Amino acid sequence: MSTSLKNNSANNDGFEQLQLMPSILKRIQQLGYNKPTAIQSRAIPAVLAGQDVLAGANTGSGKTAAFALPVLHSLIQNPVSRKGANYAQVLVLVPTRELAVQVTESFQSYAAEVTPKLKLAAVFGGVSVNSQMLALRGGADVLVATPGRLLDLQQSNAINLSKVSTLVLDEADRMLSLGFADELSAILALVPKQRQTLMFSATFPDEVKAITAKHLQSPVEIEIQRADESTVQQQVYTVNRNQKTALLSELIKQNQWRQVLVFASAKNSCNRVAQKLEKAGISAQVFHSDKAQGARNRILTEFKQGEIAVLVATDIAARGIDIAKLPVVINYELPRSPSDYMHRIGRSGRAGETGLAISLISHDEYHHFKVIEKRHKIRLPRQQYVGFEADDEAPADCPSRQEKPQAKPAGTGKKHRKKAAQANQAVWQQAKLKSQAEK
Ligand code: AMP
Repeated sequence: MSTSLKNNSANNDGFEQLQLMPSILKRIQQLGYNKPTAIQSRAIPAVLAGQDVLAGANTGSGKTAAFALPVLHSLIQNPVSRKGANYAQVLVLVPTRELAVQVTESFQSYAAEVTPKLKLAAVFGGVSVNSQMLALRGGADVLVATPGRLLDLQQSNAINLSKVSTLVLDEADRMLSLGFADELSAILALVPKQRQTLMFSATFPDEVKAITAKHLQSPVEIEIQRADESTVQQQVYTVNRNQKTALLSELIKQNQWRQVLVFASAKNSCNRVAQKLEKAGISAQVFHSDKAQGARNRILTEFKQGEIAVLVATDIAARGIDIAKLPVVINYELPRSPSDYMHRIGRSGRAGETGLAISLISHDEYHHFKVIEKRHKIRLPRQQYVGFEADDEAPADCPSRQEKPQAKPAGTGKKHRKKAAQANQAVWQQAKLKSQAEK
């Protein structure tokens, strides 16, 4: 299925049926959205009806508009006067700074024709707090935030969350993960219990789904994640670890892709891969959390504008980032979390375009890739690239062949110590009884 969403229909009947405000419909038309996507058709009516929503849909399927459009509609329909107080009306929590910028831009775009103007604000770490404090004066109709900076601002009374009427968790599985647990519970304690809660994510692992129930009231559950809906073709090449960069260069050169997003597992790994690509004559930039926020913004903008051909990134680029027509994503190393695999490959094949995701797996990753397949109920054929075939056996320096620590010598384990103590006790007991009898 490779048809562009923009060619789905010749008119915007679909959106009109959703009964959105004329100023929103006008903007949708300007943007060339002819028809709501599947997630939009199902989520928008539920959000408009004031219900809680738990929505899972493939990444790139128009999730942002699925919550942004009805949220804007409700704000227009029920304008709230903040009377100079610094209340936030709608709070959208996102896991990364880049996503905060992107979601805010989407809100700004969708609200471009709305009058009187709504106040949309974004707060996230890595940049000066002062300008964000100033921007929050008088509160905001929609506040898009990463949790840490939001709490800093709340603690300095720059924003008041006690009147939040709608709380949105974008990339909800990540927001509900252990890494954000403390910050999220602090924020949940600050927003009213009576509110509308919307959770959107491409993936909802079972353990996360169990937590969602705590935060949602009779939610409308929407699941639009059929494998056949995905427009991303997935390929897997097995390769010796020490041949990975050479294979990566070969793939980039041979295929002459316009742009490639390469994922590595860690910051230093990104740096190493980019350096090796440069040596092979391929210009590449890196994107990870050691970069200053200014540099991160610049690199992402340049990549989105097609000015950077190869970007080597950690998982901070895995979620939500919308890069139009990105032809290919390469997993140079696999993500630790199986969910991140789906998020990574979803950077390609967005908005109905076709995409390609290639994973280069070496012997030490074979098992982990099986775990990823199991989680996503997929099974991909392993391929070999001529000239870069993986050895049958893991090479001697492969971590998967490193000797496991020796088991404790027989008879010295905890179980044995317990047994030995019991046996000793029995012997002493017998000796005691014997000596008593002799007396
Ligand atoms: P998202 O999943 O929200 O990141 O959206 C992915 C891309 O789809 C963005 O570039 C949107 O502009 C685009 N998009 C969202 N909804 C529609 C629609 N109904 N028709 C066409 N494009 C859309």
